Amino acid sequence: MQSIEQCDVVVVGAGAAGLMAAIWAGRTHPGRSIVLLDGARKIGAKILVAGGGRCNVTHFEVDPKKYAGSTKSAISKVLRRFDVPETTQFFSELGVDLKREETGKLFPTTDSARDVVDALLRAVEEANIRIQFPRRVESVGSTSTGFFVEGPWGRMECGQLVLATGGKSLPKSGSDGKGFDFVRSFGHHVTETFPALVPLNLPKSDPICQLSGITLPTTIRLHSSTGKHIIEFTNSTLCTHFGLSGPSVLDISRYYLDSKSKDSGAYLSINWLPSKTRNDLDLEIQALGHRSVRKYLRHCSLAERLVNMLFTYCDLDLEVMGDQLQRTERRKLVQAATEMRLNITGNRGYTFAEVTAGGVPLNELNVDRMESRNCPGLYLCGEVCDVDGPIGGFNFQWAWASGYVVGTSLR
Ligand SMILES: Cc1cc2nc3c(=O)[nH]c(=O)nc-3n(C[C@H](O)[C@H](O)[C@H](O)COP(=O)(O)OP(=O)(O)OC[C@H]3O[C@@H](n4cnc5c(N)ncnc54)[C@H](O)[C@@H]3O)c2cc1C
Repeated sequence: MQSIEQCDVVVVGAGAAGLMAAIWAGRTHPGRSIVLLDGARKIGAKILVAGGGRCNVTHFEVDPKKYAGSTKSAISKVLRRFDVPETTQFFSELGVDLKREETGKLFPTTDSARDVVDALLRAVEEANIRIQFPRRVESVGSTSTGFFVEGPWGRMECGQLVLATGGKSLPKSGSDGKGFDFVRSFGHHVTETFPALVPLNLPKSDPICQLSGITLPTTIRLHSSTGKHIIEFTNSTLCTHFGLSGPSVLDISRYYLDSKSKDSGAYLSINWLPSKTRNDLDLEIQALGHRSVRKYLRHCSLAERLVNMLFTYCDLDLEVMGDQLQRTERRKLVQAATEMRLNITGNRGYTFAEVTAGGVPLNELNVDRMESRNCPGLYLCGEVCDVDGPIGGFNFQWAWASGYVVGTSLR
């Protein structure tokens, strides 16, 4: 017969949110028996890969308006409880000083994600948390006095249960969406989930795929089927053999996929010259006179391969001069350079997505405590909630802040 262990608190999931919840639970309630369980063989997989192995811990300016999912006011309420200066201080006290880069992103001064994981694990130990892994939880439920969690390793019973099981992105890290089944079993809703911060695919034959390896600043715009401008992101864009990636594309991906599910005609366009409008470029080409259009676009910092692609796309002779362009040709080129419609065929899926959009809506929680409204004693934090942010450290900040609220709010 398998053993039944008893403890005060079980935290399921030792990602950023679960580690934070456990550390603050231990610090706030010394003497309680707190167990942190994770199904993974190694702790902190996502922290280790974040920011290309440097871990973009947070952002200098975390504006709640930049998050999507639940209401801005609910997200803001949680973020205010553990803000960026507190995050910086918390890590500094753990021996991980953060530095701010030009983009506003904060990284460890050592550029080492390993240092972040090691510091968190030291803090877990100092807070007297019993961390156990690999211990995958297969089922959860209520008992007369609290909750149980079970797996092939046995059963554990506790007074309070924290679910910090993440979303579905990077499933090989252990976050495969099982936590969504757990929250549903306690009566919570899970809003539609889909990959966010995810690269987008183009048909193999798309001329953009031939630009593989080119990185440049662009503006990517989302339009409704009627052409209405919904949202845009200007940032670095990476052309790849499968389509498009880079911050601008990752940031718009969740809005695009969301719009597309409601309005099948929604589409994206790209401005390869983000500092120019269609009108600007039109006037500039008209003013070229008998000068080379191709050289002009090269002078605007467009890579040669990209300029050639635009000319082929518009059926233009590479040597054409400004005054040799017919009006319709000029308009076509201007449109391709500043408002090229993207023929997106899909996305790279959860394996390549940095986060999951969707989850438990915050209105089902008392956000002062991140405690379930319909199941007292059950707490949620991190990506299992319906909150996702742009790239730049926003998603970790949500994990740190919501984990902190849970850890300090246990009864
Ligand atoms: C490649 C990549 C790069 C990223 N870079 C950044 C970045 O630089 N900055 C940033 O802010 N964000 C970044 N993110 C997003 C960020 O990593 C996540 O938003 C954050 O890790 C979410 O934390 P979490 O604790 O909620 O979930 P997770 O980190 O997913 O942790 C959940 C944990 O629960 C465990 N678990 C799940 N189900 C079970 C179960 N049934 N039993 C036991 N354990 C279970 C998993 O093993 C996992 O350890 C990146 C994500 C990826 C994939």
